[in-house]
Amino acid sequence: MTKQSFKCECCGTVYDEMPLCFGSNYPDHYYSIPPDERATRIELEKSLCVVDEQYFFHRGRLTIPIINFHNSLYFDIWTSISKENFELRMDYWDKPERVNNNPYFGWLQNQIPTYENTINIKSKAVEHECGAIPEIIIFEENHPLTIDQKNGISLEKAHKIVQSILKEQHLK
Ligand SMILES: [Zn+2]
Repeated sequence: MTKQSFKCECCGTVYDEMPLCFGSNYPDHYYSIPPDERATRIELEKSLCVVDEQYFFHRGRLTIPIINFHNSLYFDIWTSISKENFELRMDYWDKPERVNNNPYFGWLQNQIPTYENTINIKSKAVEHECGAIPEIIIFEENHPLTIDQKNGISLEKAHKIVQSILKEQHLK
């Protein structure tokens, strides 16, 4: 398929193709900690976060398929994870057989743009091979994000979501 350039509606920036990868640098919980306390209370790595040694979070990839399109929409976002599963992930971090672990339950910790509230909806994280973050599957009953992840979205809807995200980013 040939690449189609993509133009941002807010400012006219032209991309070689529609940007498809987005994400959040921190779990929502991070922002509830006062900025001057974050250094002492939060342990943060690229895809792992522990707050006050008792709230555990990890980063995963949420994929929304786009129907009849060669690519999907990706959000690298955070979910909570239990202490037990967090420790299990650590134990298996470098072990290829980690892909056989049961999925880890978690509450989604980021707002996915254009969707109704997605904070604290149900998700599970499925381990990928070493070096890759887990795949996040949403299973909050009847939530539009659950439905879209399962069924895919139209290219038109993907355009709308991407335009909305770019607008937000470009206005900052
Ligand atoms: Zn723009």
